Amino acid sequence: MGEAFSPEEIIELAKRYNCEGIAFTYNEPLVWLEFARDIGELAHREGLFNVVVTNGYGTAEAVDLISTFADCVTVGLKANASQSFLKEHSGIPNTEPLFTSLQRLKRHDIHLEISDLVIPQGGDSLEEAGSLCRWIKSELGPDTPIHFIVFIPSHKMSTAQWTSQSVLEAHCEIAMKSGLRYVYVANFPGHERENTYCPNCNGMVIARFGYDIGSWNLDSENRCKACGYMIPIVGDLTLTPPEERYVPVVFPPMDLGIVCEGLTAFQQNKSDDASTG
Ligand SMILES: [Zn+2]
Repeated sequence: MGEAFSPEEIIELAKRYNCEGIAFTYNEPLVWLEFARDIGELAHREGLFNVVVTNGYGTAEAVDLISTFADCVTVGLKANASQSFLKEHSGIPNTEPLFTSLQRLKRHDIHLEISDLVIPQGGDSLEEAGSLCRWIKSELGPDTPIHFIVFIPSHKMSTAQWTSQSVLEAHCEIAMKSGLRYVYVANFPGHERENTYCPNCNGMVIARFGYDIGSWNLDSENRCKACGYMIPIVGDLTLTPPEERYVPVVFPPMDLGIVCEGLTAFQQNKSDDASTG
């Protein structure tokens, strides 16, 4: 059973735990948007940022309301926003509102990111992934980050398969070929596509493992230290606090070698940084 909190209590909790911002996520915030707005406005007054994670299936009025308090919006698409897949599994008659919402958020000049849950057996078409990425590049711009998420079988799709590494990487390949500059994987700690790479010289500019940032190779204006290319980062980069807040869960189908190597490299990076100050 859940617990009831007022907006004031949520802000108090965020401050008590030294949070820099609040993310409205997991439950769809479009369902409780006025409550999110009340929290978000208070958060801004206290110097906290707001991140809204939504499926994007909202009216123009709802999208406009998000824009009054969100600093960043992630629109979580599923199955490359495949019309046939979403009609069958999400019960929405057509996917047009998703794209309209994305265009509208872009016009509001909010930092916008896309995630795409890659679902095996029907929601992993590379052709549709290519169309989606080309649309994102032309309508939202090549700097729009995209995150391809590993599907974890659960609930009514418990017997479905996990997204394979090869299919996930093929999606990344298509996104990069489409001209998107910041392409990531999610739910795969240790994968090299958790890091940010400079689109100009291809050097790693932000090292990550799971939810943690380990180090970066950027100057104070977010330019790549190797070549000077400006990386359009919004907000401050912050190292993960020394005490471990999260231990990413490693899922059975993942290549454990990649996960372990990623973790070792990440920890090595962090201790190098600590020793050099
Ligand atoms: Zn560079």
